[in-house]
Amino acid sequence: MNRDYLSSYLFPNSCIGCEQPVSKQDPYRNFCLHCYSLLECIDFSISRCVFCNERGGGICSKCQKSSHILGISSAVSYSNPLAQSLIRSIKYPPYLQKLAEPLGVLLAQRIVESFSTLPHSKNWAVVPVPLHKTRFRLRGFNQAELIARSLAIQLDIPIKTDIIKRLKSLKPQALAQSRSQRMKLQKSHIFAPASQISAPNILLVDDVITTGSTIKSCALALHSAGAKNIWAACVSH
Ligand SMILES: [Zn+2]
Ligand SMILES: [Zn+2]
Repeated sequence: MNRDYLSSYLFPNSCIGCEQPVSKQDPYRNFCLHCYSLLECIDFSISRCVFCNERGGGICSKCQKSSHILGISSAVSYSNPLAQSLIRSIKYPPYLQKLAEPLGVLLAQRIVESFSTLPHSKNWAVVPVPLHKTRFRLRGFNQAELIARSLAIQLDIPIKTDIIKRLKSLKPQALAQSRSQRMKLQKSHIFAPASQISAPNILLVDDVITTGSTIKSCALALHSAGAKNIWAACVSH
């Protein structure tokens, strides 16, 4: 099916933030200018290390070594109310899966702006953070995978969903525990390699990154699967 036809079918000309009409020629396509400005896409950057909170932004050199993750890009701050409501609308009722596509586009724009060397098809793969199979069955889809698929199309990089698997499903109360308790979870090896990887460079994608314990566990599994260089990307941090 023609992609333009598909996107015009999925996204009639209205803003996904406020449902006001949006011109097809609008550079931000799925958002009106007002909502796009609310997403603070242009000037959002991570000011402290996502793992240890050290000043300096992204991932500090010490944590790069221990996590195998060389850098991180996030499109929007999670304190942004519009970003929160868009992501919640995908993960929880009404499960608006179609919102993953424009969020993937937004994240791709952010990556293009923030990475000094752009990832390109050769030697790269996009890997979404997997859901546990029980959670996948309940929800029917993995929101990180939907966002990663949209991102992969934008960056023209293949997506791989069979490299790592999730061994444990975190209960919602586990997510609400303190930072130190959540950091301990990273030691419990939530993810494991499922097959050997062919591309040495990985763009690991999640919808939201909070303490970084999930991506750290993913990165360890990816490293065991043969990944050499890992970068992380999320819609919101
Ligand atoms: Zn709007
Ligand atoms: Zn650090």
